[in-house]
Formats: sequence, C-alpha cells, structure tokens
Amino acid sequence: MSDKIERVKTLIIGSGPAGYTAAIYAARADLKPVMYTGMEPGGQLTTTTEVDNFPGYPEGIDGPTMMVQLQQQAERFGTEVRIGMITSVEFSKEKGGIHKVVADNDKEIEAETVIISTGASAKYLNLPSEQRLRCGGVSACAVCDGFFYKGQDVAIVGAGDTAAEEASYLANICNKVTMLVRRDEMRASKAMQHRVNSIKNIEVRYNTEVDEVLGEQVVEGLRMVNNQTGEKEEIAITGLFIAIGHKPNTDIFKGQLDMDEKGYLITKGKSTKTNLPGVFASGDAQDKEYRQAVTAAGTGCMAALDAERYLASIGSVEEAVADKY
Ligand code: NDP
Repeated sequence: MSDKIERVKTLIIGSGPAGYTAAIYAARADLKPVMYTGMEPGGQLTTTTEVDNFPGYPEGIDGPTMMVQLQQQAERFGTEVRIGMITSVEFSKEKGGIHKVVADNDKEIEAETVIISTGASAKYLNLPSEQRLRCGGVSACAVCDGFFYKGQDVAIVGAGDTAAEEASYLANICNKVTMLVRRDEMRASKAMQHRVNSIKNIEVRYNTEVDEVLGEQVVEGLRMVNNQTGEKEEIAITGLFIAIGHKPNTDIFKGQLDMDEKGYLITKGKSTKTNLPGVFASGDAQDKEYRQAVTAAGTGCMAALDAERYLASIGSVEEAVADKY
C-alpha cells in the first residue's frame, strides 16, 4: 500500500454513459470528481458500432466515438479520469462518514461521496469447452471480434435484441451465421426478428443449444443439441459468439449495498440513493429494466445531483450551489 491517502469529494466508479454524465454534472457543480474507468474504459458502448437511438445524433454515432466525446466533455469541466480499477470498498454507514476505497489493489482513497456506474458484463454459457476456448474463437462481442472471421462460418447463441443485432452484423462479414435460439421463438423485438429472417446467410435454429464447442486450441466446430428431441448435430465453425445477456458488475459491493438476487443495486424510490448515505448508484449496475445508453446517462445525471444535495446537507458544499437546480 502507498502511504499517502488521497481525499476526494466525489469518486465515480465506472466510465459508461452513466459515469461520464455523472462526471459532467459533478464537475460543473465543482465537486472535483475523480473517475476510475474500470477495465473497459467507456463501458459496453465501446463494443457497439452504430448507436442510432441516442437523442441528438440524427445520423447515428459509433459507440467508441461517443464515449471519447463524453470523456472529453467530462474532462472539459475538470473531471480527473484515471484508467484503473477500484478493487475494494469499505463504505461508511454514517451520514457525513468517509468512504474508504482501494484502487488497483494499492492506492487508498477516501471519498465523501461515491457514484457507482460499474455497468454490466457479458454472460457466458459456462460450458468447460466454451471457457477453454475464450481466447481461441469464443467471443461475447461480435463487433469487437467479427472482423477476424471474415468470409468464414460462425455461430451465435442468444435470441434477444443483442443476438439479433450481432447476427446481422456478422452476416455482413462472414460467409454463414448459424443462430441458436433455445426456445421456439426469439425474445428480440419484431423489427429485429424481421431483419434476421430477411438475411439470407443467417440460419436460425430454434429449440437448439450448445452441447459442446469443438476444437483443442481454436474453435473448429460446434455440437448442437435440439432440446425437444435430444438430437445432436455437429457443424464446422471457426467462431462462436455468445449474446445471452449481461450481469451487473457489483460483486465488490456485496454485503455492503442492498442488491437483488441478480446483483442489481437497489436504489430508493426515484432517486439514485443506495442504502448507505453518500453512496449513489446509476446506469446498468442498478437498472435491469431499461438498460439503454440514454437511460444510463439520465441516472448518471441524477446521481451527481443526489451527491451534490447530499454534500450540501452535510455542509460540504454551499447549499446555494445545490439549490440552483
Ligand atoms: P436479453 O436478456 O434481452 O436476451 C438474452 C437472450 O439470451 C434471451 O433470448 C435468452 O433466451 C438467451 N439466453 C439466456 N441464457 C441463455 C443460455 N444459457 N443459453 C441460450 N440462450 C440463453 O439480453 P440482450 O443483451 O439481448 O438485451 C438486453 C437489453 O438491451 C434488452 O432490453 C434489449 O431490448 C436491449 N437492446 C436493445 C438494442 C436496440 O434497441 N438496438 C440492441 C441490443 C439490446 P430466452 O429468450 O429463452 O430467455
């Protein structure tokens, strides 16, 4: 551990649309926010190509560019963005108490307020063969890795909007995409289903799951199983994409913050307040319902306002500053 303990007014953990929006508002309110980006600076949107549904971009914008711009906007008002992880937390239970955190297993930081915007991570099937080949052709991000399978045959697992969107994306690059849907229908919106069904090189297999990913060092094929008939079938593929949803990144808060059975942080009423004073939660870490960039940004804004009002209530910032909202 380093000797010197840094004290910050507002610590932001995580750097997706929620974290950056919280940073913009907190910096403009002179809370001098320090942000730890996590291992995936910019969050999930950095793995998306076109974002067409964020207001203000009539032509759409690609996810990584949008995140760079959000970072620049946050920095313009004085946010200190640090690439690193918060590795442990010891939150105070008292109003006005100091929250202690450790960054990168080494640096101790004391924070008057903490805004959590740690987002969510892709889920995997957790089959041994899938885990073994995660560096050899199994991926949870078609947009990041699809390029490597240009002109080849691949498969994708999942039936939500993400799977449908990624299947369409892969179909543009790859020779053939086999889509494994575990039920007899897709969860994806009708528009996305229509899109998938209209693309000639996507073959949708209903009632079908992965039995085993084949290959020693790299993916060479897939054994699928029909969960109605038990019938198994092998296909040759070089890439397997998993698109079966996400898990909130809240493990380090277990035992301190209230969360539901899936790990989503519980916030009070319409606020971003957690069960502990001075600790606020925003974005996908607390939202299992909407999970959109724009809703994450909205709750990031709310978290900064809640933090500012909290600081005013304990006399740490001028009441007048908080009242201007
Ligand atoms: P979802 O939770 O919506 O879908 C997950 C899919 O994976 C479901 O079809 C589920 O099957 C399937 N699945 C889960 N576990 C397994 C498993 N072990 N084996 C096989 N299949 C499995 O997650 P998404 O990431 O697709 O979407 C998350 C949210 O983001 C949604 O609200 C979605 O609408 C939104 N979104 C919106 C987009 C847009 O508007 N452009 C783009 C992408 C996402 P089952 O249906 O049987 O449960």
